[in-house]
Order: sequence, then structure tokens, then C-alpha cells
Amino acid sequence: MSKVTIIGAGLSGLLCGMRLAKAGFNVVILEELTYPGGLLASTHIGSEYIELLPHHFRRTDKALTAVTKELGIDNKIKWYDGFWYGRASRKKIGYFEGGFATLINLIITNITDNGGKIFYSASVSEITQKEDGSYVTSCVLSDSRKYEVESRYVIFTGSCRTFVNVSHGLPMSMNTRDQLMNLTYQSRICLMMVLKKLPSDAYIQRKFPTKTDTPFARIVNHSACFTDRNYGGQVLYLVGKCQISDPLWVESDQKVMEEYFSAYRKLYPLIKKSDLKSWRLTKVRYAVSDHYPDTDLTEPLENVYVCSSALTSFATGSEPEKRMDSIAALANDISARLIAKEKSTNEHKEEAIITAI
Ligand SMILES: Cc1cc2nc3c(=O)[nH]c(=O)nc-3n(C[C@H](O)[C@H](O)[C@H](O)COP(=O)(O)OP(=O)(O)OC[C@H]3O[C@@H](n4cnc5c(N)ncnc54)[C@H](O)[C@@H]3O)c2cc1C
Repeated sequence: MSKVTIIGAGLSGLLCGMRLAKAGFNVVILEELTYPGGLLASTHIGSEYIELLPHHFRRTDKALTAVTKELGIDNKIKWYDGFWYGRASRKKIGYFEGGFATLINLIITNITDNGGKIFYSASVSEITQKEDGSYVTSCVLSDSRKYEVESRYVIFTGSCRTFVNVSHGLPMSMNTRDQLMNLTYQSRICLMMVLKKLPSDAYIQRKFPTKTDTPFARIVNHSACFTDRNYGGQVLYLVGKCQISDPLWVESDQKVMEEYFSAYRKLYPLIKKSDLKSWRLTKVRYAVSDHYPDTDLTEPLENVYVCSSALTSFATGSEPEKRMDSIAALANDISARLIAKEKSTNEHKEEAIITAI
């Protein structure tokens, strides 16, 4: 089977990697960060894993639930009542025993057990094509060394804009390039805090108790919903929309934390600084895509695939949702197309050999 280079070890890259490694492909995944998961990455609080950004399952997450069944971990999803403050509705919200790291770690085990390799701190800077049609993916490692991977197929899972930036050497039409470049993204800043107590029992708050200006648009009271976890405190997230031109974007984590926490305390004056046990700030440049293209751009060049949430509307045929489920469906779809293509190429090769004999 052929070699495939996958750029990005988020949910989509890992899912493609698992499907293709299981199908016998020689899989190499290049990830610029030092850890897997992308937007779904986790950290430790005490003995528990927890996501850097707030995540949960919904009953309607069909493609993702199918993956958990396939991996035998669907019984690890527990369903909770989630109270949406401001909308006064209760929805069932799913969360993993052991956090989403349970899913990510098991997918990684499936990749490596089937011979796939994952390289971290490997930032892809360029993809070029050789005369024989194969691709060369160049990346820079953390020690500034350059590393090149040659493969028949490439799957890119970062933002469409980053794809355009790294693929300027590829013979792609101007129109395709422009369409991909026009897919703009919103950024997010997220402060995760461990407090001694939570002042609200709502899971997600979009409307706040007082009409104070806040740098965040949403509060996710993780521990108000997932009550049976041992974080040594109560976890909540403050999620803010932030333009990269906004002065806050370039501020230090400490400064942003202070600004977010002080706005939070204006909403809940009973919370004291001494209630804050620990915190972690995450800035995401390409968090949510703004709009979707008019045409299917998931294969902008032969044997090169873009598996990015900005393109998910083409996978399911349904309304684009920007969610894990849509990206899982797109990853399944791209993997299936690639497997079918490889099969038909091999059949043609066999036919050619038989004819020659
Ligand atoms: C605040 C927030 C909350 C969310 N909550 C939910 C939720 O509750 N439920 C839900 O269904 N969805 C949620 N989502 C959406 C969900 O996180 C995403 O749909 C999903 O994780 C996207 O996975 P991905 O693999 O496509 O992209 P990513 O997770 O972005 O992965 C792409 C990877 O590619 C790497 N990469 C990019 N460029 C390069 C390069 N040049 N070289 C090497 N590596 C590169 C990145 O480092 C990253 O690891 C949320 C998103 C946000 C921002």
C-alpha cells in the first residue's frame, strides 16, 4: 500500500490516520504542537484529564458515536442534564469517563499498532510535487532541523488558509487558491479556571447576571454538569471571541487572565481571588470558520485532500455545524475515497501486468 502524509494530529488527522493505517497504508502524521488533539487537546488537573477548551457530546453526534462504538468505548460516555442559562432548556450532554483524552489516546494506539508514525513539534512549511506525481512535505523540527516526507497522498487538516500558505509550490488553480484563502476564521481566547466553588449551576451561560461588559462571550461551568469528577476544585471556562488585531491577543497569559477574572468577579462579587486554585489560558488562531465555499474543495489537487472544518458541509450534505461530528464524518469520507482510489490504482496496475504477460 502507498504512503500517506497527514498534516495535523487533531481529531480529523488522527481519525484519517487510524482508518488508513488499519487499511494497510504507510501513515506518517506531522503535528506542529508538542501534543495531540488540536482543539480537543487535554491537560492534567490532579489525576484527571481535562480539555483545554470546553467540549461535550450531543445525542445527535452520529459519526462520532459510531467511532466510539467501533473502538468499544461507547459505554464510557455518560449522559448528564445540562442547564442552559438564558435559554432555560435542559439538554442531555455526553462526556467521557477520563475526558476526551480517552478517545484521542485510543485512536493513537490504533494508529501506532498498525505501523503508523506520529511526529510532534513538526511544523509543515511547504508541500511540493515531484515529476513522478508524488509529493514532498517539508517540515521544520523544534531544533530547526528540516525533515522531508515523500508520499503518494497528502491530507492537510489545519486551516484552509494555512494550506494555501504551505502549498504555493503546487500546481493548483488560482480560483481554488482564492476560494480557500477567502475562508476566514474567528479566533478564541479561553481561560480555564479551577475555583473552590461555582456561583452558578448552569452548564453554559451566554447571558450574564448583570449587564457588565465582559471580554468573554460565554461561561461554561464544566463542574456544574459533570459533578462526579475529581479535579480538587470546580472547573469553569470563560470563552472569548477575539480578533488577532485586538491588543488583548498579544498580551501575556497573566495579563489576559487578570482581565478575564476581574470581569468575572464583577458578575459574581462573592468570588474572591483566593477562590482561584489554578488556571490555564489557551489562544486559538483558527478556532471557528466564518463561512463555507460554494464548491467542494476537499480535493484541490489529485491525491491531495483538505480535511478542515471549514469544508465539512460537503461531507454530510447537511447544514454545516463546525462540530466534532461533522469533522469525523469528513475524515471518514476522505479516508474512504483514498482507500477506493488506491484499490482502483492497484487493480489497474495488476491488469496492466497481466496484459503485458
Ligand atoms: C472553544 C471551542 C469549543 C468547542 N466545543 C465543541 C463541543 O463541545 N462539541 C463539538 O462537537 N465541537 C466543539 N468544538 C469544535 C471541535 O473542537 C472541532 O470541530 C474539532 O476539534 C476539529 O478537529 P480538527 O482535527 O479538524 O482540527 P484541529 O483540532 O484544529 O487540528 C488541526 C491540527 O493541525 C495542526 N496543524 C495546523 N497547521 C499545521 C502545520 N503547518 N504543520 C503541522 N501541524 C499543523 C494543528 O496544530 C492542530 O493540531 C469546539 C471548538 C472550540 C474552538
